[in-house]
Amino acid sequence: MRTPNGIECAYFYGNYFRGRSVEECRLIGRQAPPRNWTPKLCLTCPVPGILRANACPNMTLRAEVQSRLLGLSKVVKVSAYCTLSKQIVDEPHVGCGQCHPLPPAFGEEES
Ligand code: SF4
Repeated sequence: MRTPNGIECAYFYGNYFRGRSVEECRLIGRQAPPRNWTPKLCLTCPVPGILRANACPNMTLRAEVQSRLLGLSKVVKVSAYCTLSKQIVDEPHVGCGQCHPLPPAFGEEES
């Protein structure tokens, strides 16, 4: 579903049927302030970009809202975990490399 900013995100849910205005992020879920989700967070959230770059079904994402600048600004912080290799994925856009290795052309140069 598209976020209010027009970005496609698998975790966004919006219900506008018959005057309703229900919007939620189903990745962050309901959290108490100041870690609560607001639609404005979608504008800078890295999750849609991660999902476009890496569709690995073994990678699970977690997200939380973090405050910056003494609470003046909020951002979505994402962490990823691979259920196959059972390790934290440092670069979610790329994956852990266990089941989708890069072709040799992208590997280290041989001397
Ligand atoms: S905050 Fe991120 S994960 Fe949540 S709905 Fe918005 S774009 Fe999707």
